[in-house]
Amino acid sequence: MSALASWFLSRSANRLLADARQIRADRDRRIDPARVGEFAGLAESVNHVLDDLQGTMSALESQNQRMEAVLQGMGEPVLALDPQHVITLSNRAAVEVLGLSDPPLGRKVFDVLPAPELERLNFEGQRGKSGPSSVELELGGLRLLAQATRQRDGSGSVLVLHDITGIRRLEKMRRDFVANVSHELRTPVAVLQANAETLLDGALDERGIAEKLVEAIHRQTGRLSSLVADLLDISRIEAGQYHLEVEPVSVAHLCRQSVDEMERPASTRRVQVQLDVQTNLWALADSKAIDQILTNLLDNAIKYGRPGGSVTLRTLEAGSHVRFEVQDDGPGIDRKHHSRLFERFYRVDKGRSRGMGGTGLGLSIVKHLVETMGGHVGYRPASPHGSVFWLELPAVASVDEGRLITANAALDAL
Ligand code: ADP
Repeated sequence: MSALASWFLSRSANRLLADARQIRADRDRRIDPARVGEFAGLAESVNHVLDDLQGTMSALESQNQRMEAVLQGMGEPVLALDPQHVITLSNRAAVEVLGLSDPPLGRKVFDVLPAPELERLNFEGQRGKSGPSSVELELGGLRLLAQATRQRDGSGSVLVLHDITGIRRLEKMRRDFVANVSHELRTPVAVLQANAETLLDGALDERGIAEKLVEAIHRQTGRLSSLVADLLDISRIEAGQYHLEVEPVSVAHLCRQSVDEMERPASTRRVQVQLDVQTNLWALADSKAIDQILTNLLDNAIKYGRPGGSVTLRTLEAGSHVRFEVQDDGPGIDRKHHSRLFERFYRVDKGRSRGMGGTGLGLSIVKHLVETMGGHVGYRPASPHGSVFWLELPAVASVDEGRLITANAALDAL
């Protein structure tokens, strides 16, 4: 080769090298075939390979972005682990649900989730290693279902945590409910059966005994029918089948009606029921539901208040709401019971409530009904002693010449 030809060759090679170096810094650059003489063919091939590579990389990048969006958008915490169980990737939900201050990258999963059940998990579905691929664990008041999946290339595993706290709570509520209903049914049914048997065994002929047994049957049948009625109400309200006709109703009128209905139980216990209501108050509610709520609260105040005492039904204006208060001067309720009073079957004094024919469902029905009408309920001790059960329902702004000018906002909200 002549010296000139070798000089050209070396110049082309240098240009090729220089262009190749620049490509490392700028992936969009290509080698100019016209500048590299004899290497033009090689340059074109390299350019093609680069184009293909760039296409593959952009596809991978957009796939990565999609995966990242899916991962971050997931409500469940997701952790990717290496074979040593060190966290290599996590999503936003992991930080939020687990209450972490930072993504737990680089930390061992057992330190981030300190639950003994996790140690039983067969993370990579390894053959020969026993253990389930999912375990349930308790962590900081949460119940989590941890589900492990092996990464396909064998480089570790992915752990997904499902928050099943709500599901477990509902299951427990259902179990408790069934247990409570069975418990409530047992006594009256047992009394009915025993008394009927005693009557059949000959007590029918002894008038005095027979009367007592039949009276007990009558009492227990009453208890059963109240229980069935309350249970039906609860299930109708919860299924959204308790039909409410929400309209402007006169508060004073409804209060008077409910107090009148309480005349008999009140006189039996020599309780004075007083009304302290304003005549110009209107609420947006279902009159039948208000009556059920007020008679329930008045009945409790008469039953659990002081025999010979007094009960007051009062109404007040409370901003955009009407407030109803039922106050008695009985013994009141100990502080430790306040937060649970409106739970189904919760009783402060079990024996007394059953003795009074109570089902333990009254206050939970009251709460359901009030909340269905957009209101709220509560309890506070009365001074110097006794109880105040209160509820607030949306008010109607004003009444004009018999026509109701309603608070549009309150109506719209329903
Ligand atoms: P019950 O059918 O037993 O009356 P409720 O749900 O109406 O059920 O009431 C729950 C419990 O709250 C009652 O068993 C009773 O112990 C207590 N309670 C309700 N109202 C009063 C009151 N005014 N004073 C004292 N205790 C009350």
